[in-house]
Amino acid sequence: MQEEWINKAKKYIADTYVRFPIVVTRGEGCWVWDMHGRRYLDFLSGIAVCNLGHANKNVVEALAYQAARLGHISNLFYMEPQIRAAELLVENSFGDKVFFCNSGAEANEAAIKLARRYSWKNHGEGRFEIIAMENSFHGRTMATMSATGQEKFKVGFPPLLEGFSFVPFNDLEAIERAITPKTCAIMLELIQSEGGVYVADPQYVQKLRKITREKDILLILDEVQTGMGRTGKFFGYEQYGIEPDVISLAKALGNGFPVGAIIAKDQVMAAFEPGTHASTFGGNPLAASAIIATVDTLLSEGVLKNCETIGTYLLNELTKKRKRFPFITDVRGKGLLLGIETTIPTDGIVREFLSEGVIVAASKGNVFRLLPPLIIGKEEVDIFLEIAERIFERQKA
Ligand SMILES: *Cc1c(COP(=O)(O)O)cnc(C)c1O
Repeated sequence: MQEEWINKAKKYIADTYVRFPIVVTRGEGCWVWDMHGRRYLDFLSGIAVCNLGHANKNVVEALAYQAARLGHISNLFYMEPQIRAAELLVENSFGDKVFFCNSGAEANEAAIKLARRYSWKNHGEGRFEIIAMENSFHGRTMATMSATGQEKFKVGFPPLLEGFSFVPFNDLEAIERAITPKTCAIMLELIQSEGGVYVADPQYVQKLRKITREKDILLILDEVQTGMGRTGKFFGYEQYGIEPDVISLAKALGNGFPVGAIIAKDQVMAAFEPGTHASTFGGNPLAASAIIATVDTLLSEGVLKNCETIGTYLLNELTKKRKRFPFITDVRGKGLLLGIETTIPTDGIVREFLSEGVIVAASKGNVFRLLPPLIIGKEEVDIFLEIAERIFERQKA
């Protein structure tokens, strides 16, 4: 039965994804079920999206209520849920204002446009260059692909958008050398998750903040994946004791409902005047109600604390395993965004986990990622560790 559906998918859906060979029909908390009723422990969370787990009651109820009341009306009107969602994000971040959109790429697109326009308004023509990081990932639209520091995503698509240069991650001198009078922004992820789980160094980020402030270069943090509690704080930048100029959000912002946003200070967001940027769906009542329920739940039910505690436990246990299994060359990350680097191809490991009933994510190189829901309990982590032990044992043989 599952096979038939998979064949149908191949017949009718553009072939842009390498998919797990299962049809998932239901999810609850940290577990999902395929159409044969087989249960899987989800250490992927729909790619760091379902941070509150599947079918979170608060999000489900908020969406059902709002869908029956007012689903969409457009940004030609004021909407109560959108206003409340914006207030919630501003009151819990460095920022003053929010722009809503629908995805991570769109959020980064907005951040890129905002940076250019801010610079144009405050520093005049020609100051439009953005320094991004090698090995970064910012999305698949033309601009965000151009901003992405991995060649494999760009093959066959040039000419790319001009105005991006790339420097090695965590290398302050490289940035200092790359800054020119045309630089308007620096854009980076605090953890390069798609790039292989590389964590930004605190000193690096703090010095970067200092340099960018001095030159009025905007510091854009792509928090699409590190935001919404993934690292154990509500936003990743809170780990670094700095305030950025712009952050982009998406993924877990609606716990599965497709939403995106950027947050900035008044002075920066002021560059977006009426008519300069827009999104038909952005922050519509349904999306906004998902954001409100997600943020409220993340901040009120001990979810962040759990992420920190469980993340530390998992990292420690994996570090112990690393010592016993020489093919594991590194274990790194923060909160529940963890990467395991090995000497063997990741595809095989991911498949073995799936056959043992656990979903893990591949990353760049020989790195696979653990991105479980932030509500995960110790029992579920122990189930994972037991299965991981079995799989690791087999690699040794
Ligand atoms: C997933 C991701 C994006 C792209 O988000 P989409 O919603 O797929 O467009 C951008 N940046 C980072 C860091 C991401 O993890």
